[in-house]
Amino acid sequence: MTSNNRYLSSQKWDLLLKSLPFKLPITIIGYSVLNQPIYAHKLGNGKIKVLLWSQMHGNESTTTRALLGLLSHLGSTSGARLIEGLTLMIIPQLNPDGSSAYTRLNANKIDLNRDALDLTQPESLALREVFESFSPDFCFNLHGQRSVFAAGKGGKPATLSFLSPAANEQRSNTPPRVKAMQIIALIHKNLQHHIPDQIGRYDDTFNPNCVGDYFTSLGVPTILYEAGHNGLDYDRDFSKEMTLSALILALNSIEDKSYLNHSPAAYYQIPENEKDYVDILIKKVDVKTETGLFKNQELAVLYQEEKIGEKVFFRPIYHSFSEKTGLLGHRVLDAEEILKVSEVKFLEGETIDIF
Ligand SMILES: [Zn+2]
Repeated sequence: MTSNNRYLSSQKWDLLLKSLPFKLPITIIGYSVLNQPIYAHKLGNGKIKVLLWSQMHGNESTTTRALLGLLSHLGSTSGARLIEGLTLMIIPQLNPDGSSAYTRLNANKIDLNRDALDLTQPESLALREVFESFSPDFCFNLHGQRSVFAAGKGGKPATLSFLSPAANEQRSNTPPRVKAMQIIALIHKNLQHHIPDQIGRYDDTFNPNCVGDYFTSLGVPTILYEAGHNGLDYDRDFSKEMTLSALILALNSIEDKSYLNHSPAAYYQIPENEKDYVDILIKKVDVKTETGLFKNQELAVLYQEEKIGEKVFFRPIYHSFSEKTGLLGHRVLDAEEILKVSEVKFLEGETIDIF
């Protein structure tokens, strides 16, 4: 299986921006390890300042595509009203090298979301300098998550997940953290009729090397967005639309301060992300290993993403098997019905080539 959408290089993004019916203000905020420019777009003249960045992890492109929708919305009448009250600084691809290579890491193989304190990478420095010069009132840290997450134990796939990062080891409800919680609670409530029980909440263990935790500790509410999975939509078009809705909801609520009507308690009621899904679960399969033949098992398969040309290929890889894995599958197959063979031979980590 392949996706045409998930790979979003800086060249492809440039082409998408050119499709907008208006000219976008553009500045270069720094250069990547491989000397690609890192662009930012400043829009609006409002008092409240919001800094948004995406593709800090280069293979997480869904939120960047949602940003294209946001930019398009800002060109509409209701969107234009939004940027009368807000000033937005949008960095669509903080990690252009990783975006071009389809990797989480930058060209020095560093995770930029673990470099907030050390600032060893040019991309981290570029973000920090914008943070200091723009001095945002709110930050949106935009990511994409793997297909493994459920919204709560045994729940539906987490099509979107959020975190109001902790600002200290005690994970206390500091005032900036509470603001981010209130905004997430508002998004959660308003998206329930679109994605009922499909929004998850991330673990809030404090890690000051993560940008969101660090910025929150400096007093700026920072919302982590994670565009996730739904059904068999490996292009993630649906979660892109949900991310866009969640962006517009959050920005509107910051502009009109309606997030203040929501409580941190509602945030804590959002189910936590659980690693409950695999991409394919095959039932009633006989599995042959070096130690013997195991009858009537469940076999769990995960896709490994690989960039081939301009596409992302999803390679099925063995995950685990047992009589009852306790896992959920985005696809559930019955080996007797679906497969020509009822025995699967494999080695751990091996590609399963029956799909
Ligand atoms: Zn990420």
